[in-house]
Amino acid sequence: MTRAVYRFVDHTIRHEPAGGIVAELFCMTYGCDKSSGAQGNAEDAQDWALRHTGLNPGHELYRREFSDHARVTRAGQEPAALISRSSHDCGGAAR
Ligand SMILES: [Zn+2]
Repeated sequence: MTRAVYRFVDHTIRHEPAGGIVAELFCMTYGCDKSSGAQGNAEDAQDWALRHTGLNPGHELYRREFSDHARVTRAGQEPAALISRSSHDCGGAAR
């Protein structure tokens, strides 16, 4: 019989401001599949919607998606120390 000892380490997840905010607007008019595309500046996405409505009267309803970045840090580790580890090969959700 093999015995294993597991050590659990606390981690914290928080918003990472350096990653910025990504915004995308989707036209919800039936039959229209246009979107602003992912924009690093929310104003650019909104400007696209204003232009889209101007060119397509009646296309007035949009779904807005905003996303941010989050950083997970190990208890006792400074978040700034991890920024330089961006080359880390993350295996995705399985890890
Ligand atoms: Zn549209």
